[in-house]
Amino acid sequence: MPSSTLQHQLHRCSINTATLGHRLPFEQTLELIAHAGFGHIAPWRRDLQGRDLKQTRRQLRDSGLQVNAYCRSSYLTASSREGFAAALADNRKAIEEAAELQAECFVMVVGGLAEGSRDLAAARGQVSDGIGLLLEHARQHAVPLALEPLHPMYAADRSCLSSLEQALDLCEALEPQGFHNLGVAIDAYHCWWDPKLAEQIARAGSQRRILGLHLSDWLVPTCDLLLDRGMMGDGVIDLRGLRHSVEAAGYRGAIEVEIFSRDNWWQREPGEVLKTCAQRLQQHC
Ligand code: ZN
Repeated sequence: MPSSTLQHQLHRCSINTATLGHRLPFEQTLELIAHAGFGHIAPWRRDLQGRDLKQTRRQLRDSGLQVNAYCRSSYLTASSREGFAAALADNRKAIEEAAELQAECFVMVVGGLAEGSRDLAAARGQVSDGIGLLLEHARQHAVPLALEPLHPMYAADRSCLSSLEQALDLCEALEPQGFHNLGVAIDAYHCWWDPKLAEQIARAGSQRRILGLHLSDWLVPTCDLLLDRGMMGDGVIDLRGLRHSVEAAGYRGAIEVEIFSRDNWWQREPGEVLKTCAQRLQQHC
């Protein structure tokens, strides 16, 4: 149930493993997150590379943590037909891994301009084609795809999908009958500036397309566009207001902490980071 604060609600919260800087073996990460009281985890593919996923699934079950999301797609935009085919193949494999882990969704970061290109419209077309081609595979494996729009500062190199409105337009174009397997992940860091955010959250909720809510904070000043995200409460985003509007739109999934912080949180003890996440979620979100 939605609640005004997250006091005693950590079982509804998730830790995205990037928050701990990918420094520990996965078993240890699981143990620490479960021990800190969280109910969910969002692992990255790189954390699980070379592992037997059946064994990983057993470890997950033993830890009691649910996988609310699997991170993340490789970029769909490519400058050649072969490159595009390779990206699709890699993403199909990742969708199968997500199914093996019983992840509640697979997060898609779609890619920016293809190498050497200045054609943003073509990149967006390629993204739409690619997601259309992956959708059937995702349906067969019962893995919902969560399109994650990224802040427009990443349009060139990470995501030509830059707003919630754009992501929802794409969902509607590819699934015109309503939600089946394609939705969105709303990340505070990427979306907080958007003047249409409230209306687009309501739109996403009315279609039951909200598959994830990612929290971190926007620091002033931000020293690195990628790796200087703030801990909740240290920046300027109204995180509690955002969570309330997403939950008012019907979202009941995990509330995920995703902080990339090379020079601050990734330098601290993982246990301290998790303790701080738990405190800040309850105080500020
Ligand atoms: Zn995110």
